[in-house]
Amino acid sequence: MTAQAPTPTPALGLDAPRTLFIDDAFSGAASGATFATVDPSTEAPLAEVARGGPADVDRAVAAARRAMRGEWRDITPAERGRLLFRLADTILARKEEIARIETLDVGKPLKESRGDVDGVVATLRYNAGAADKLEGATIPLGRSVIDFTLLEPAGVTAHIVPWNYPLGMLARSLAPALAAGCTAVVKPAEQSPLSAVLFAQCCREAGIPKGVVNIVTGYGEEAGAALVAHPDVRGITFTGSVETGRLVYQGAARGLKPAVLELGGKNPAIILPDADLDRAAADILDGAFGNSGQVCSSSSRLILHRSIHDAFLDRLAAAAARLTVGPGLDDRDLGPVVSAEQHGRVTGYLAAGRREGARLRLGGGRPRGLDRGYFVEPTILDRVEPGHVVAREEIFGPVAVALSFDTIDGALTLANGLGYGLVAGVYGRDIGEALRLARDIEAGSVWINGWFIGGQQAPTGGIKDSGVGRERGLPGIMNYLQIKNVGIRL
Ligand code: NAD
Repeated sequence: MTAQAPTPTPALGLDAPRTLFIDDAFSGAASGATFATVDPSTEAPLAEVARGGPADVDRAVAAARRAMRGEWRDITPAERGRLLFRLADTILARKEEIARIETLDVGKPLKESRGDVDGVVATLRYNAGAADKLEGATIPLGRSVIDFTLLEPAGVTAHIVPWNYPLGMLARSLAPALAAGCTAVVKPAEQSPLSAVLFAQCCREAGIPKGVVNIVTGYGEEAGAALVAHPDVRGITFTGSVETGRLVYQGAARGLKPAVLELGGKNPAIILPDADLDRAAADILDGAFGNSGQVCSSSSRLILHRSIHDAFLDRLAAAAARLTVGPGLDDRDLGPVVSAEQHGRVTGYLAAGRREGARLRLGGGRPRGLDRGYFVEPTILDRVEPGHVVAREEIFGPVAVALSFDTIDGALTLANGLGYGLVAGVYGRDIGEALRLARDIEAGSVWINGWFIGGQQAPTGGIKDSGVGRERGLPGIMNYLQIKNVGIRL
């Protein structure tokens, strides 16, 4: 680490860490406290950010509550949609600036950050288009009664966001909440708060009414926990680790609030003996090493039929060895991992894997020539056994682990053998076999002959320890609507 003092936030054009966005105004924390974010490519302090706490959360929730009763409630759903379309356009117009900040803050290559901004725009547009198409139903109770449902916004919603896709995850839950007519308080991750501040600027520019979107930068145990506990928050969407997810769910239960939890994964990619190995290797390369493996739905656990095990890993290792690693702004294939803590976590897993007898097929260390920054080489661990820690726990770094199977039942036992159940993939030419596996695999999404299949329209989420509820698509908007039943006796 350098000894250089953290500067204010020139990267955002701010002369002071006024990164809270409450009631359409930027401010510092009530306590005056701040914290520094670090550029993971250089380990140098990047920006000083307001460390919001319970008093700031109170102010933000109060603003969101007022906004629920103001202009936002009275505009038509179509106008709400138009505002969201305008927000999408505003973000697109600032794409380069936003992508650059995201890259500085989390280290990901610029091309990935640009892709993330495109994803945010698509998310906003999908939900904008849905805003005036949310319809209730008429209920057939017989001739003497007319009964129907009204879909009403849930109220003030809380959005707690992780650092791996800071703006992408923010938009994934916020856009449907806004489309549904809710107001919101967002808590970005402390490792990556900067793009949320630009998002707030865009909300202002696009004319989103005062208090509809509020952002409280700060730590999870302070700002995040206060938001979960706040009595006026009527719904929580949390994206992050299983461990924190459990805490958030407990807090939600205490307040009897609905919560959507999007948690971690240790996702099996089953490669059957008749799979197209070249195609599978190309997909797994992206699935395992994109965003330096810091992806909840990464293809982190390779379950390979013994007959093609080596042939597949040869292809994957050859391609992974060609990946370039460097600072995010240099736009190589991989950037650093997000923080010193994450770097320690990933390298700790690599050491555990070697201790337990896994064989290092590729990587495993710091890329040559990169002495500073939280870099990890793309790594493949082979001869991993189901009981190994690296086979069971989410590493969240550029690390793929390889296990073998002999029978379909054996593959299924491995795939379903963990508490996680986020996504899974099957590669094979026999579509009947692949579909049988898709039916029996315990996961929220199963992809066949492809990885990262999905889009704004396709619901996503985990089962078992990987989460509760679904985001995206129309089910994603339903998270933010209450169904009111109205009956009239004739
Ligand atoms: P994390 O759980 O450490 O933090 C997530 C967010 O929760 C942060 O904003 C943090 O400040 C906040 N938080 C921490 N403690 C809190 C508390 N007590 N109360 C309320 N909020 C609190 O997760 P992370 O390390 O930022 O993210 C990585 C994890 O997120 C991985 O496990 C990854 O798989 C998961 N993830 C899941 C999805 C998905 O769609 N399922 C998407 C992205 C990331």
